[in-house]
Amino acid sequence: MTKPLSCEQAVEQFFAYLDRALAGEPLNDLEAHLEACLSCCEKLAFSRRLDTFVKNRLPQSPVPDGLEARIRRTLGQTSTE
Ligand SMILES: [Zn+2]
Repeated sequence: MTKPLSCEQAVEQFFAYLDRALAGEPLNDLEAHLEACLSCCEKLAFSRRLDTFVKNRLPQSPVPDGLEARIRRTLGQTSTE
């Protein structure tokens, strides 16, 4: 047994974990932590959604014309209220 991960260390591994770049002991340590730590479980669920969102956006399909501008405008409006 290695020493348990802190939440901070666990969170640092999330993206490697989601990329399946973790294996062996670091993977076991992280999974052990996730089983025991609800807050990291929730953070991982959030990171997974974010990760999926980013990856779905990346492949060869650029943001449709106008969408980014619309988002920026929407964000601009909400932030100036
Ligand atoms: Zn934790």
